[in-house]
Amino acid sequence: MKRNEGMTIAVASGKGGTGKTTVAVSLALTAPGTVRLVDCDVEEPNAHLFLNPVIQRTNPVSIPVPEINREECRSCGRCAEACRFGALVLLRGRPHVFPSLCKGCGACSDVCARGAIKETDRTVGVVEEGTAGAVAFVQGRINVGETATPRVIRAAREMTSSARWTIVDSPPGASCAMTAAVRGADMAVLVTEPTPFGLHDLDIAVDSARKLGVPCGIVVNRHTPEDLRIRDYCVRQNILLLAEIPDDRRAAEAYSRGKNVVDSLPGMKERFVALWKSLSAALKGNGDFSCEGGNSLAQISDDALNERTLLGKIRTGVSSARNSLPGSVT
Ligand code: SF4
Ligand code: SF4
Repeated sequence: MKRNEGMTIAVASGKGGTGKTTVAVSLALTAPGTVRLVDCDVEEPNAHLFLNPVIQRTNPVSIPVPEINREECRSCGRCAEACRFGALVLLRGRPHVFPSLCKGCGACSDVCARGAIKETDRTVGVVEEGTAGAVAFVQGRINVGETATPRVIRAAREMTSSARWTIVDSPPGASCAMTAAVRGADMAVLVTEPTPFGLHDLDIAVDSARKLGVPCGIVVNRHTPEDLRIRDYCVRQNILLLAEIPDDRRAAEAYSRGKNVVDSLPGMKERFVALWKSLSAALKGNGDFSCEGGNSLAQISDDALNERTLLGKIRTGVSSARNSLPGSVT
């Protein structure tokens, strides 16, 4: 999957509304070097609302959809058996295609011994490219009613770039769409909020990242100092707690006006610069620091550890971590 020289950081969350796009946009605006933001939330991309990019190119994304040659078809049904998506079914003994359900996987034509299936391209979405100031911008957008979400995400991610950093704004949840956005990234930044639902969905997202073998760290949005459930979770799961962004009504107000928080809230830029230091330190340690269980924090380099006093505190246990963490980005 990886086609670019730089590092890819996928910003994801177990559910919508956690501030994922706010974090992705803020990381893009404070990146230490050339940066590209790829909005892979293709059913509802909204990073553009905060970056106001100038779109320079629009590339269609298509998938190969089967067409049945009735003269060759012997109604054996193998194609319908091969389709896992219900996009090709037998009706009254004859195969019928439902194009909007088709994922373009090609399994049906592979099994047709009669060669009765021809594939034709069907446009399911677009990938748009442009710039927003110093930020290179890419966004995928799937057509209404289409279901080939992973295909559009992959097309957006596959756009080549010379940027040092690529920030991927992933779709919410832990579905195959999220998997397509996070797969192959150097790191996943999982954004959550300190609520029971937030923790539940975070746990699912962490599990997905682990299965993909992508190291992950956590950013808590709308953090309140008295709520320590995410800190406790990080200690239990041995996962990097990268940052805690305080609950601030002004952030919601900026969001509702389409303003990015980095330029709108005092001190926010510094918080994200600090977050980048944590990310860079973690990545310097080969990124092998959070997933696959075990005390993998120990694999971060000494330099990285010096920059992240938090990590040392996490190693010493829950109570120590609780006492040492400030209620803000560290
Ligand atoms: S596999 Fe080929 S021959 Fe068999 S039903 Fe499908 S299209 Fe017809
Ligand atoms: S290409 Fe794949 S998803 Fe589409 S009809 Fe054939 S088997 Fe089903």
